[in-house]
Amino acid sequence: MPNIINDVKLDFKDVLLRPKRSTLRSRSDVNLFREITFRNSKQSYKGIPLIASNMDTIGTFEMAKAISKHGLFTTIHKYYTLEQWKEFAQNNAECLPYIAASSGTGEDDFERLKQILTEIPAVRFICIDVANGYSQHFVEYVRKVRAAFPAHTIIAGNVVTGEMVEELILSGADVIKVGIGPGSVCTTRIKTGVGYPQLSAVIECADAAHGLQGHIISDGGCTCPGDVAKAFGAGADFVMMGGMFAGHDQCGGETIQRNGKKYKLFYGMSSSTAMDKHAGGVAEYRASEGKTVEVPYRGDVESTVLDILGGLRSACTYTGAAKLKELPRRATFIRCTQQVNQVYDGVTKGD
Ligand code: 5GP
Repeated sequence: MPNIINDVKLDFKDVLLRPKRSTLRSRSDVNLFREITFRNSKQSYKGIPLIASNMDTIGTFEMAKAISKHGLFTTIHKYYTLEQWKEFAQNNAECLPYIAASSGTGEDDFERLKQILTEIPAVRFICIDVANGYSQHFVEYVRKVRAAFPAHTIIAGNVVTGEMVEELILSGADVIKVGIGPGSVCTTRIKTGVGYPQLSAVIECADAAHGLQGHIISDGGCTCPGDVAKAFGAGADFVMMGGMFAGHDQCGGETIQRNGKKYKLFYGMSSSTAMDKHAGGVAEYRASEGKTVEVPYRGDVESTVLDILGGLRSACTYTGAAKLKELPRRATFIRCTQQVNQVYDGVTKGD
């Protein structure tokens, strides 16, 4: 007989953060920087723990240059050549503490990763990324990367449950990427019926990781700065975004002009667009699990970064958290049936 879990699991849209009495005078009193020492690599990091996803339109060198100025992190996508990496590293040494090199789990991925990390020793983070982090092959790959790079910080995912977070940390990963199906251009839940509401996944996985001195990233599902604040409130150490960083000058992907308006192509890494581009099409045995959208062009990513940071600081002042690190301790979530008033949707001029 199948098991049914009757507890309600929650998404960002199902809750709001309750305001609390606070001694903070202004948003400028809030410190969004975090200092973290990772469990397995023993490396230290200091930055604002927001991450541009390793999608090929988002995790670009241009994105890293723009957002690392604010202390934000980029997981660089895995489609740059070694030559492109070397050129970037030579000219942008100041960005290197804020980037990770991404890897799949194939033999060729491992060789490529080894070349990048050997040629550019200042790259200290590795992001091992697969859609389904539950396979034994994935766990073995994490072990192999840990053995080859004992002092690099390893990000690994994606999973959504505590037991798998623990297994990956004990296999050598430092930071576990949490999220199956919440992404803006993801269709996994439609194609497979598999997933886990993101806020509950973050709460449960953070608890499992922190019990072992590990860390987690909430990956996917943030649609606005308020969702980012909720993810941190739920216990995420880092928040990764794709869609919120899409549509900017720093993004890869075609720019489209139509009826005098500009758009940028944005697509899931399992969409047929991505598979046509990188794998010569969708293999017969699998289905696309991502979609392709045209995002209205949004200019420089700088203003989006400032908007997210402003929202986060404000969430901290409303809840009385002087530091981002204190947000989970200050967070009380209220379940709600409606979180925003939509009466003027579609007729807003700007914000
Ligand atoms: P977003 O911030 O856009 O809501 O979510 C970004 C995350 O969606 C990525 O970091 C990645 O984990 C996930 N993602 C990216 N492409 C795909 C895809 O094609 N299919 C699925 N299932 N997830 C994707």
